Amino acid sequence: MSLLSVIVPCYNEEENVEFFYTELMKNADFFAKKGVELEIIYVDDGSGDRTVPEIKRLREEDERIHLVAFSRNFGKEAAMFAGMENAKGDYVVIMDVDLQDPPALLPEMFTYLEQGYDSVATRRVSRKGEPPVRSFFARRFYRLMKKISKTEIMDGARDYRIMTRQMVSAILSMREYNRFTKGIFGWVGFRTKWLEYENVERLKGETKWNFWKLFLYSLDGIAAFSTVPLMFASVMGVLFCIVAFLLIIFIIVRKLIFGDPVSGWPSLVCFILMTSGVQFFCTGILGQYLAKTYMEVKNRPIYLVREQF
Ligand code: UDP
Ligand code: MG
Repeated sequence: MSLLSVIVPCYNEEENVEFFYTELMKNADFFAKKGVELEIIYVDDGSGDRTVPEIKRLREEDERIHLVAFSRNFGKEAAMFAGMENAKGDYVVIMDVDLQDPPALLPEMFTYLEQGYDSVATRRVSRKGEPPVRSFFARRFYRLMKKISKTEIMDGARDYRIMTRQMVSAILSMREYNRFTKGIFGWVGFRTKWLEYENVERLKGETKWNFWKLFLYSLDGIAAFSTVPLMFASVMGVLFCIVAFLLIIFIIVRKLIFGDPVSGWPSLVCFILMTSGVQFFCTGILGQYLAKTYMEVKNRPIYLVREQF
């Protein structure tokens, strides 16, 4: 017998906990036939509602259900990491509790693992039901990442992914504090099969991500998987030097030919303003990376557990 660990991050999801369980168990027969046992690890990310009592109620009926409850909200990244750390399975799959990651895909995903893939990942091909502005910026983000990062990050990739123990160990060996799992999956490599599906809307409750949160998350992603922004300062510096040099030559020549009076201080002010603007911007970028480095150096735990079974 082998074991499949299903990791389910939950944050204020009291309405979805049981539905998810019911839907997931529709695959139980398939896995039983394959000789695969299931364990379900709900990771409660500091919910303030009845998520934990709901999980406990389910546990009374099914011993295969486990809980890792955080001491506060640490974010989905931390929840996924905690799930992987506590999973005992030979295979591990990460799924959202709101059924946006259809459990019906699991048999197909597992079949690919049997064929020798190390991981089977999913991506949405449509963003139906999502605000257009969000889709627009999401697309821009993935396009930008493609240019400035060597790590492959797929457009529309979900965190819904099944992996072998070997790949999970690789991911667990990356103990960075600023976690951007979509990048980490790509960074560790291994043979990955991509499955595509149409976007499914959330079962109950509301998304925990607003535009601003997603925007900050995308900046985290950039800082975690690219150092290209740091080069921006050097490139701008060189560019400005060249422009300045050409201007100096222009002014000297003009002086020699026309005996120029001292005019043109408004243009000078513009230049000074612009260069100092660019300097502030670059200092800001430096600051971002410094802040990230600061948090890493502190070496804080990624999550803290309040309760576990
Ligand atoms: N989630 C979490 N911690 C958070 C935010 C979200 O564990 O701080 C969980 C949430 O319960 C859900 C999954 O992450 O199972 C995806 O969240 P959500 O559905 O809000 O995101 P979306 O699908 O809209 O991207
Ligand atoms: Mg969702």
